[in-house]
Amino acid sequence: THTIHIIGGGLAGSEAAWQVAQAGHRAVIHEMRPVRGTEAHRSDGLAELVCSNSFRSDDPNGNAVGLLHQEMRSLGSLIMQAADAHQVPAGGALAVDRDGFSAAVTAALAQHPNVTVVREEVAGLPPEEWGPCIIATGPLTAPALAEGIRALTGAESLAFFDAIAPIVHRESIDMDVAWFQSRYDKPGPGGTGADYLNCPMDREQYDAFVAALVAGDKIGFKEWEGTPYFDGCLPIEVMAERGPETLRHGPMKPVGLTNPRAPDRKPCAIVQLRQDNALGTLYNMVGFQTKLTYSEQVRIFRTIPGLEKAEFARLGGLHRNTYLDSPRLLDATLRLKARPTLRFAGQITGCEGYVESAAVGLMAGRFAVADAAAATLQPLPQTTALGALIGHITGGHMSAEEPAGPRSFQPMNVNFGLFPPLDRMPRGEAGRRLRGPEKAALKKKALTDRARSDLAAWIEGRQPLPAAAE
Ligand code: FAD
Repeated sequence: THTIHIIGGGLAGSEAAWQVAQAGHRAVIHEMRPVRGTEAHRSDGLAELVCSNSFRSDDPNGNAVGLLHQEMRSLGSLIMQAADAHQVPAGGALAVDRDGFSAAVTAALAQHPNVTVVREEVAGLPPEEWGPCIIATGPLTAPALAEGIRALTGAESLAFFDAIAPIVHRESIDMDVAWFQSRYDKPGPGGTGADYLNCPMDREQYDAFVAALVAGDKIGFKEWEGTPYFDGCLPIEVMAERGPETLRHGPMKPVGLTNPRAPDRKPCAIVQLRQDNALGTLYNMVGFQTKLTYSEQVRIFRTIPGLEKAEFARLGGLHRNTYLDSPRLLDATLRLKARPTLRFAGQITGCEGYVESAAVGLMAGRFAVADAAAATLQPLPQTTALGALIGHITGGHMSAEEPAGPRSFQPMNVNFGLFPPLDRMPRGEAGRRLRGPEKAALKKKALTDRARSDLAAWIEGRQPLPAAAE
């Protein structure tokens, strides 16, 4: 039995510890909360979700993150087990009751005979005598450790903003205006097809809203000037600044929804709110991450029809994100080339999102177990969602969308662009060439089918089958 120290008991550290412990080794988690907090965490629970309560799409056939869920489940993920046990209705997405979820992860680890949780900050690089360590301290890594990593690697840790979407008390929403409906009435796990609250806007209201977002007071950039936004998480007012129609083609798109009070009148734009806790008392404004000041958020968001009297449980905000230049610094199994006893996991490696962070934690745990046995884990096929994600981080392959050559490393959610292209495009019946949405759907199905068969082969220790010749 070996002992593996894991620094940080967030999404990645909790999953890594579980994988290590389940494989029969000892995992020691060093978590600084509640001794020392971060700017975003509010509890002392392990695997706290700091913002949205969504693990995004749960569709394993049409969506890369849904596929990642499925792969993690098949590898015994604690994070997915706790998420499935604490889900709340959310259309086609997997959303969770955040307190129940975190409590379940905390309890599972506390009760595991191979796990010890030490509540302390690791203030600097871990001592050499600890032996193998997994650093999973996340986007808000405490400064002394971040400084230690920087001194060792000589690399600049890049900081940029993540933005928090506001949360509204359900009882303060005007239900004479808003209505329950999921886009295209799509029921999610445990959902009804009516899991979102929708607030409609006509053209005049929408134009005034966009103008207010653009004119509203924002929090200054001082410390972080020059920091690029991450494209998947743009503040709402930055989207508004990109053009008057941007929002109604983005988070405020009115498609797939019908206002029961005016079924013949198509709204110009729709604000969606998603259930945020199991009780159904809180709803978050989907895609409304923002750097507007608190008072401006209240003033402007109360112009949304149905939210005139909205009471906010939490307003939007701005946050730091620290991550490594991983393709240069880490080897194929996430070890720091400069000091291979240190392995990294989670958002600090440059993945983005709860699920991705946990997924990288899962693999870091498995790599550490293989090292302990002096074995080499067969490389994960990059045709799988897990393999595509690890490939993105370690630079094992180029993204399908990127030409060969140097690239600047950016945090990324898992997406089909990270998967190697198909050897041949799927065709319709009798070899018919496909186009448009039909082609896109079949392509996703072919990618996810390939991922499933290659992951199954990897789990059984088989090599994936070579692609059939054209
Ligand atoms: P964390 O979950 O943050 O875990 C790191 C842990 O390490 C923490 O518990 C911390 O207390 C501890 N720690 C830090 N330094 C030390 C130290 N020196 N010693 C001991 N312990 C230490 N992703 C989404 O999918 N959806 C979102 O809505 C979302 N919103 C976000 C909002 C904000 C403000 C931020 C910062 C990030 C957000 N993310 C979101 C991104 C990301 O997925 C989460 O931050 C996720 O929690 C990352 O997982 P992790 O395990 O890498 O880090």
